[in-house]
Amino acid sequence: MEYLVDFVEKCSGFEDSDKIKLILFASGAKPSTFVPLKIFPSNLGDKFYFEKHLKEKGFLFSVDSPKSFEEISAVNNNKIIWSLAGTWYGYDLFKNRQYYDLFKKYIYFVRKRNHARADIIAGSLYGYPLCCIKNFIKEHDPEFVKNKYSYRDYFKKMHEVRKKFPFISHTPCSVNCAESKKLNSLYQKTIKKNAPKFYREFVKKKSDNADLIVESENNFKIGLDEENLWIEKQCHDYTLICKTPVNKHYYLFPYLSRDAYSRGSVLSAKITIQSNYASIKIKKLKKIIPYLMHIRKFKLLGRKY
Ligand SMILES: [Zn+2]
Repeated sequence: MEYLVDFVEKCSGFEDSDKIKLILFASGAKPSTFVPLKIFPSNLGDKFYFEKHLKEKGFLFSVDSPKSFEEISAVNNNKIIWSLAGTWYGYDLFKNRQYYDLFKKYIYFVRKRNHARADIIAGSLYGYPLCCIKNFIKEHDPEFVKNKYSYRDYFKKMHEVRKKFPFISHTPCSVNCAESKKLNSLYQKTIKKNAPKFYREFVKKKSDNADLIVESENNFKIGLDEENLWIEKQCHDYTLICKTPVNKHYYLFPYLSRDAYSRGSVLSAKITIQSNYASIKIKKLKKIIPYLMHIRKFKLLGRKY
C-alpha cells in the first residue's frame, strides 16, 4: 500500500495539477516539487497526515507559515463576492539533501534578481527540459515576445500547450516540443500506473451548461505600469467567470474568441472539461452587466520571495 499517494488522491486540499506533481514526486519521476495545501474547516487534519506520510517515506520538506485565501462565494448582480475560505501552506519537497541544497541556491539567485541563473537551476530541480528553459528565459524580454508572436499566436499557443500537455508543469518552448511530448507521456503513464483512480477521474470528459461573465481581456503585461504589449489584436483572450457554480465552484476560465465582447457580457455556454482544460462553446450573448466589480479583502493564492 502506497499511503502517500493514497492520501494525495483523496485529499480535497490539493488542486488536480498539484496532485499530479505530488504523485510524480512520490513515484520518483520528479526530484523536487512545490505544492500549496489548502485547509478548509472540512479537512483540518490533512496537514498532520500529509507531513506524517512524507516523514514515513523519508522525504525532506520545508513548509511556509499559513496564509489566508479567498474564493468566490457568490455573484450578485454586478458584484463578484469573495469570502475567506481557509488557510494554505506552501510545501517544498525534495527527494534528498542534494536537491534541498540546489533549492537554496535557486532562492539565492531569485533574491539577487538573477532570473536566468535561477531558471536554469529550477530546470534541474523540477525536471524541466533545457530547450523550454532557454526559451522561457528569452521570453522574459517583451521585445523578444513581440517579435516572435502576434497576439493571436501567443494566446493560441498557451491554449494548445495546456490542452496537449496536461501532465507537465513547465511552459513548453513550442506546441511541437519533442522533450515536452516525451515527458508528458512518461508522466501520464506514471500517473495511470500509480494513481489509477485519480487518473480515470482526471481524463474523464465532463460537460455542463453555464452562464459565464466576461471579466477581463488578457494581454502580455510589461513594466510596473502593466502596459499591454500588443495593441493590435486578431482575436481576444478573455477570462470568464461562472455566474452560477459549476461542480460547486465559481471557476475562472481562459477563453480565446474571434468575437469581441465587452466586460460584463453574460454568455450562455457549454463547457467541456477534460484533463484540467475547459473547452468552451458560446451559445449566445444574453446581456451585459454594467459596472462589474470584485468585493474582496485578500490576494489570490500565490507566493513571493
Ligand atoms: Zn522544449
